[in-house]
Amino acid sequence: MAIERTFSIIKPDAVAKNHIGAIYNRFESAGLKIIASKMVHLTKEQAEGFYAEHSERPFFGALVSFMTSGPIMVQCLEGENAVLANREIMGATNPAEAARGTLRADYAASIDENAVHGSDAVASAEREIAYFFSAEELCARTR
Ligand code: UDP
Repeated sequence: MAIERTFSIIKPDAVAKNHIGAIYNRFESAGLKIIASKMVHLTKEQAEGFYAEHSERPFFGALVSFMTSGPIMVQCLEGENAVLANREIMGATNPAEAARGTLRADYAASIDENAVHGSDAVASAEREIAYFFSAEELCARTR
């Protein structure tokens, strides 16, 4: 099993509903370690840059507006197959299609406001982690 790092966001809807601790508990219960974490309120430019790959999609403006509507929690998670493990914890993009017991089934209201983000591949994880964290902010969890 490969030890990987992935990037995760608790989106403004879930932060506003006070679900930070419950979501962190899911990560830790699944064996993922939080190796960096902070709360940020994205600027429009930061949100547009993060979601640049979606800039031509019809929902882009609404997505940027939502992601800047309040503070978010950003975190780097580390563990065995962390990218896929986190995607399984999250559930499908549309909460109506998300499996029972996943974060989006439990905490997301709609496909537009769907509680969490998680990298979809190791390469995007590396890019997304570097978008928010310096190398010094990623803490080894060797103890
Ligand atoms: N999104 C949206 N409307 C849609 C599809 C996607 O608002 O019809 C937003 C939603 O917040 C989603 C994000 O765009 O999480 C990125 O979409 P993607 O297909 O990459 O889904 P994810 O990787 O987040 O499951």
